[in-house]
Amino acid sequence: MERTYIMVKPDGVERGLVGEILKRFEAKGYQLTALELMHPTKEHLEEHYCDLKEKKFFPGLIQYMLSGPVVGMVWTGKEAVKTGRKLLGETNPLASLPGSIRGDFAIDVGRNICHGSDTPENAEKEIALWFPRGVKTLKREKGIDALI
Ligand code: ADP
Ligand code: MG
Repeated sequence: MERTYIMVKPDGVERGLVGEILKRFEAKGYQLTALELMHPTKEHLEEHYCDLKEKKFFPGLIQYMLSGPVVGMVWTGKEAVKTGRKLLGETNPLASLPGSIRGDFAIDVGRNICHGSDTPENAEKEIALWFPRGVKTLKREKGIDALI
């Protein structure tokens, strides 16, 4: 089963959108596998965004991500990475369709509420970075998966 790392960024936590984001992933049918409120360090965030370190917006991105706590989550289920990013919307909220999280709640690329892994390989790297003690996925005995 595929896993993805989803994170509510400081603006999403500040604006009280954690419940809304949890609700959408639960309603879609993904299994909540890990959840934690965290205060990451600058070094941790630089590692998370290491692929973007040459970008002009990188210092501002790190500053934004340090502006308050984040909520890290792991969600498990079919095509969790690709579908997770559909639930989030486009990087630029103005290009995100209504119905997506960024499409419904944001207008600024520098304040786009949430993060989602972009490939299954990066998801596993991010899960290891944010949940270094590991996460356990419980098999659903009864429920959605048992009905398929
Ligand atoms: P995504 O989060 O959709 O995977 P990227 O990995 O390209 O997008 O970028 C990481 C984050 O960096 C974005 O979610 C956004 O917060 C920020 N970002 C991306 N592009 C810009 C930009 N042009 N200006 C400011 N911040 C940006
Ligand atoms: Mg990205």
